[in-house]
Amino acid sequence: MNRELNKWRVIPVMVPMPAERPYSYAVPEGVPVEPGSILRVPLGPREVAGVAWDGDGEPVEAARLRQISQVFDCPPLPAEMRRFIEWVAAYTLSPPGMVARMALRAPAAFDPEPPVEGFCLTERRPDRLTAARERVLAQAADGQAWTRSGLAHAAGVSLSVIDGLIAQGVFEKVEIPPRPIVPPPDIDFGVQELNPEQKAAAERLREKVGAGVFGVTLLDGVTGSGKTEVYFEAVATALAAGKQVLILLPEIALTQAFLERFHDRFGAKPAEWHSDLPPRRRERVWRQVAEGQLRVVAGARSALFLPFRELGLIVVDEEHDPAYKQEDRVFYNARDMSVVRARLGNFPVVLASATPSIESRVNADQGRYERIVLSARFADAALPQLSAIDMRKAPPARGGFLSPVLIEAMARTIGRNEQALLFLNRRGYAPLTLCRVCGHRFQCPNCSSWLVEHRFRRQLACHHCGHNEPQPEACPECGTLDHLVPCGPGVERIAEEVDRHFPQARTIVLSSDLLGGIKRLRLELEAIANGEADIVVGTQLVAKGHNFPNMTLVGVVDADLGLANGDPRAAERTFQLLSQVTGRAGRTGKASIGLLQTYQPDHPVMQALVSGNAEQFYEREIAERERARMPPFGRLASLIVSAASRAEAENHARALRRAAPAASEIDVLGPAEAPLALVAGRHRFRLLVQGTRRSDLQAYLRQLLSKAERPRGSIRVQVDIDPQSFL
Ligand code: ADP
Ligand code: ZN
Repeated sequence: MNRELNKWRVIPVMVPMPAERPYSYAVPEGVPVEPGSILRVPLGPREVAGVAWDGDGEPVEAARLRQISQVFDCPPLPAEMRRFIEWVAAYTLSPPGMVARMALRAPAAFDPEPPVEGFCLTERRPDRLTAARERVLAQAADGQAWTRSGLAHAAGVSLSVIDGLIAQGVFEKVEIPPRPIVPPPDIDFGVQELNPEQKAAAERLREKVGAGVFGVTLLDGVTGSGKTEVYFEAVATALAAGKQVLILLPEIALTQAFLERFHDRFGAKPAEWHSDLPPRRRERVWRQVAEGQLRVVAGARSALFLPFRELGLIVVDEEHDPAYKQEDRVFYNARDMSVVRARLGNFPVVLASATPSIESRVNADQGRYERIVLSARFADAALPQLSAIDMRKAPPARGGFLSPVLIEAMARTIGRNEQALLFLNRRGYAPLTLCRVCGHRFQCPNCSSWLVEHRFRRQLACHHCGHNEPQPEACPECGTLDHLVPCGPGVERIAEEVDRHFPQARTIVLSSDLLGGIKRLRLELEAIANGEADIVVGTQLVAKGHNFPNMTLVGVVDADLGLANGDPRAAERTFQLLSQVTGRAGRTGKASIGLLQTYQPDHPVMQALVSGNAEQFYEREIAERERARMPPFGRLASLIVSAASRAEAENHARALRRAAPAASEIDVLGPAEAPLALVAGRHRFRLLVQGTRRSDLQAYLRQLLSKAERPRGSIRVQVDIDPQSFL
């Protein structure tokens, strides 16, 4: 290898590693590399894909300087994306290399898609015409390029007929360029008639998108008010201006109905992006987004890191949804980072929700966001009439969990051939198994959590680490047979109770751990929408985005469930989740009800839901946050220290505490053992860092972490800015 340095230049390359800054590599003179170019570079014993970064490479001694291996034939990562990666890294205190890694997770996409082999008719005729051959010639007479199998299929002949014609030179080989995975959207395809309120909202969004500058709009509309129809008009405006559009959805894999609606409006589906896509499909989406062939992507949070080159609008649907928070490696909130992405790209962003996050509401109240309200359901569909069932006054029968009030309402509902949904946010049969003789409780060997009984699978399973074991017959402690009792309900147990009361009804259990995975879930959701079930028992995945036209009763089995933990957002979350779940009812004009089983009917959350007075709830909750200096009136970060032994974790957490600099606007609380003290064999301690709104939490944390001893051995420190989970 020629190592004369005057024939090289040194460039910075961001590699997909926990690297704090780009590494330097040599590029031979004349090789075209610009900032953003995607390169293959050697890294230790491996080769990885990295991105040429801006500026000059840091000088490296000649002996250690390595040469890039390849410049991929791929559009460079736009400057906007590079600035976004740097911004997210600085904000979340993550190594920029790890953020870049999220933007590069489609390895085979960096090489162009190979063209498809196609065949075109030539001037030459076959030696002998058969009926089959005639059909082929007629089919191909349009002069288009066909694939072998496509043509055989269209003409209704076998492949050998095609091969015979190719051999005779009747067809010649051509290259068919790869096609976009979805056809381009047609903005005039299925324009909807909007009602006056929707029209005004759409008009305002169109103006904002048309202006093409940064701004955040909170589209705040009750469930069923047509937020989707309204923001589709913003999408149409962005497309008409030649921009790409990103629509983020919390459960895209399950919202097939959304894709259909998009198709109805734009005559084609959007490209989907989520972790359940096959790798090859993801790679094609990545590539075609980079090339600008794909104009609209509907995706999960990670779609924010796709290499859009002309992004002009982001819509974040259900903006309050906790699923937007990633709590793994790089801890980020895709809703918040969408706003950052839009600011860097100078384009508008729309946050849509029936129950906006307190953060977004305050931003709107204080004038940083514009708020557009849709106050009524579309086409006179009435919101469900909600009421609380006071479980102290109308308790379930012994051994059951459903109040007679709820059971009667279910009987009336299915008697009218309508559907009922029972909601319980707990998978499995029972959250705890107990030995009645010695009191032994089945706990996960790796985590501080109880094992959940899954009766259908005949297993006890840990919902934190995935550990599972066969359902035992004897107590491992005292050896007694057949005295193990399940405590508390999960959806499977509720379904069993439903079966006892309504043996004739068609009951479906829906939770994310159903055998058959995502495909099965989609089928079940479709079946419910088509009326093929009378009673649905489900976890929160039935709450999101589905339209069940015949569903007129929603029963919440345990409305208090989410209020029990010490999370500062517990009330907000419960309000949002239960509004969304009960909002599944009455979407087509039939009278509908929602019943909340609760032991605390006077709780502000229950009161807000039952009275329908969301405003009052928001006011209270906002005042409470302000008083406690909680976000958005103050800033929060968590430091989570974990290690193989409890002592190591605790000692390091204490060391971090000691390293905390004194600051007037920032307090450090803890360390305390985490509520989930053990997860997957790692012991956990938490520190909470709380600052005023103006405080620079990131600068403070950087100082703290640099003063403290570096974590060694099994110790790991995770920084979680704006934490959503406190477990
Ligand atoms: P949201 O997202 O606010 O809950 P959706 O956008 O899902 O509401 O609308 C609820 C239902 O009303 C959907 O079935 C939708 O197709 C229908 N709908 C809303 N607005 C219109 C409209 N202008 N024309 C036709 N149907 C509409
Ligand atoms: Zn576990």
